[in-house]
Amino acid sequence: MKKIGMLLTSLLLVAGLVTGCGSTPATPDKSGSGVAPEIQAIKDRGVLKVGVKVDVPNFGYKDPKTQKVDGYEIDLARAISKKILGEEKIETTAVTAKTRGPLLDSGSVDLVIATFTVTEERKKSYNFSDPYFTDGVRLMVKKDSGIQSLKDLDGKKIGVAQSATSKKAIQEEADKVGANINFLEYSTYPEIKAALDSGRVDCFSVDGSILFGYLDDSTTILADSFSPQDYGVASKMGNDELAKLVNETIDELQKSGELDKMIQKWGLK
Ligand code: GLU
Repeated sequence: MKKIGMLLTSLLLVAGLVTGCGSTPATPDKSGSGVAPEIQAIKDRGVLKVGVKVDVPNFGYKDPKTQKVDGYEIDLARAISKKILGEEKIETTAVTAKTRGPLLDSGSVDLVIATFTVTEERKKSYNFSDPYFTDGVRLMVKKDSGIQSLKDLDGKKIGVAQSATSKKAIQEEADKVGANINFLEYSTYPEIKAALDSGRVDCFSVDGSILFGYLDDSTTILADSFSPQDYGVASKMGNDELAKLVNETIDELQKSGELDKMIQKWGLK
């Protein structure tokens, strides 16, 4: 009887130890004493998974020849991975304005660094870092259209991307100058460019950095730039320690002058 009792006790002890040492705690460690589960998961995996643009030259762009993704946002991703892993190790996933949020929600990526404008609305769904770049909404038109400003687009059609800040930004600006705009929404930028080329829209509008990737001999980008777009690194709500670490990294890069060097390296200043 005594033996069975001892056996039971030791079994319970072992079970207790096993559950006590369970791999990841159910709740994030906010005490600062241990590593938060979302950060531990990255360390265990040995690579930081990042959602990036692949069609925005100098930010996140995939070279069709080499198939390599490069740009300012990729350098930033590498710097963050170094902070977490001690070495630069990233795995990139191509995102669009429409897919980047869902990819964070599902945990397919740890971070999104993809010309993602910080807005009050979006802050309700995602953690955003301090801005690492500020752009403006710009307008691309056909060179031969004679259109020179937003006012000239009165009564005309502007193509914008779904889930982008562009429509609201243009609407606000158009109200100021008294222009009546019709919007056509598309899911990707190449579709908007095709619509501009074929005359289905009179203008393609989004942040300047994105528009420059689509500029060609027949098109021009107007001087107008409005509605400052602050780009932030986004992470999943709840992964607060990761968000904190990202911010610390950006802070350090800013203070050391590294961030400025990256911006200059990619010709963004
Ligand atoms: N930066 C803008 C936004 O976050 C434009 C869309 C995009 O990034 O593709 O809505």
